[in-house]
Amino acid sequence: MPVPATGTARLLAGGGRGPDALRPMVGTVLDALARGAADRAGPLPAGGPDAVARRVRAVAEPLIPDIGEGATLALHTLVRALAAGAADPADPRCAAHLHCPPLAVAAAADLAVSALNPSLDSWDQAPAASELEALTCRALAALVHPRGPAPDALVTTGGTEANQLALLLAREAARTAVPPGPSAALRIVCGANAHHSVHRAAWLLGLPTPVTLPTPAGVLDPARLHDALTRLTGRGPVLVVATAGTTDTGAIDPLPAVADLCDRHTAALHIDASYGGPLLFSGTHRHRLDGLDRARTVTLDLHKLGWQPVAAGLLTVPDAPALTPLDHRADYLNADDDTESGIPDLLGRSLRTTRRPDILKIAVTLRALGRRGLGDLVDHVCAAAHQLADLIEAHPRLELHARPTISTVLFRPTGAGPATVAALRRRLLTDGRAVLGRATTADGLWLKATVLNPHTQPADLRGLLELVEGDRTP
Ligand SMILES: *Cc1c(COP(=O)(O)O)cnc(C)c1O
Repeated sequence: MPVPATGTARLLAGGGRGPDALRPMVGTVLDALARGAADRAGPLPAGGPDAVARRVRAVAEPLIPDIGEGATLALHTLVRALAAGAADPADPRCAAHLHCPPLAVAAAADLAVSALNPSLDSWDQAPAASELEALTCRALAALVHPRGPAPDALVTTGGTEANQLALLLAREAARTAVPPGPSAALRIVCGANAHHSVHRAAWLLGLPTPVTLPTPAGVLDPARLHDALTRLTGRGPVLVVATAGTTDTGAIDPLPAVADLCDRHTAALHIDASYGGPLLFSGTHRHRLDGLDRARTVTLDLHKLGWQPVAAGLLTVPDAPALTPLDHRADYLNADDDTESGIPDLLGRSLRTTRRPDILKIAVTLRALGRRGLGDLVDHVCAAAHQLADLIEAHPRLELHARPTISTVLFRPTGAGPATVAALRRRLLTDGRAVLGRATTADGLWLKATVLNPHTQPADLRGLLELVEGDRTP
């Protein structure tokens, strides 16, 4: 009988010998990443879904072998296949979504999390990680709410979960502030430009369908918001959801005007700054977020403009007691006598139970780059988006939707209708040449380039436009 090659596959990542077990495996992973990228030789694999699926199937079987093939082979085969078939946001031609190229320093920090596996549902599973999370959350929240009495934040899986928590906290605050009854149901008011997760969160939480105001200019219109809030006056608590950096165009709602209207109509304000939040790091761009600190809750998503591997979301509040509706007891995790004896109670910091310390990569990144270093990256992608807009404006056969607010640029071949734009995007995808997104505005369908690569050079931008131009059907 051959000896199974599973010996090293049984080794543990943690403990004193964990690093020795990991070192050769990390080497295997890095080699496989390099080979996979070379196999692909572009921003995404060519051939479209069927070809990719065939290539994955060819190497992934047997998926659950009776006898394992060992760590080296399994790592090499599947990591290489994943890399060969990846849409790699580190390639400047991969610019469709708010899908960022993660910083190497953040990915390296994340390895430590996988090795140590702290879990943030109780202190005895994460003694240092829980303190690092508490400190980092407070520091990030203080950037958002500099005048808050006790800024704090919860770590989430992203903007979706942060928006859900924001609506949940607003619902609970409304419930305790108003006598219960049909009129006490929280009403959400948002723009048509708000992220779809706001509507889903309302549905999940049993709230009425959000009042959704048209946003033909791409941002909330204060006059329309005023009318909507006037109509809702006396009909129970209201939460306005504004967006700082929309997913489609990167537009920022007029935050000071929205905050004024919320004050005037005693409505609560949540700002979804999933995309725009990191403008706070930039001395040049932070003024665009004036008014952000007037929100009761703010969503941040550092796996967008923060260059973190997924997941890296946050929900910030100006005053930590606003989070108490999430307090929860489970005797095995936070027994009263343990909490009274001084053991931190972590269960109220999430709706999840087992929870990975996504804060480590964030904390390492903040230390490694500093506020200025991150601000420089933000400045670079905003400047690159302006260069792309300049190139489009100067181009005889391309039209620009609008100057970018953050780093999103919408454009299309001049006069191209929706079917042409959609087909062009799919051809670039299928050929493995470029990953561009799509966005519909009042003026129809556009190609969307979301510039998130902080090393993008003018030549990359010209190359991207040449691909689009070269693909024009005669
Ligand atoms: C991306 C995005 C979200 C959702 O964030 P996830 O991290 O994908 O859950 C929410 N709001 C806005 C404005 C976004 O751009």
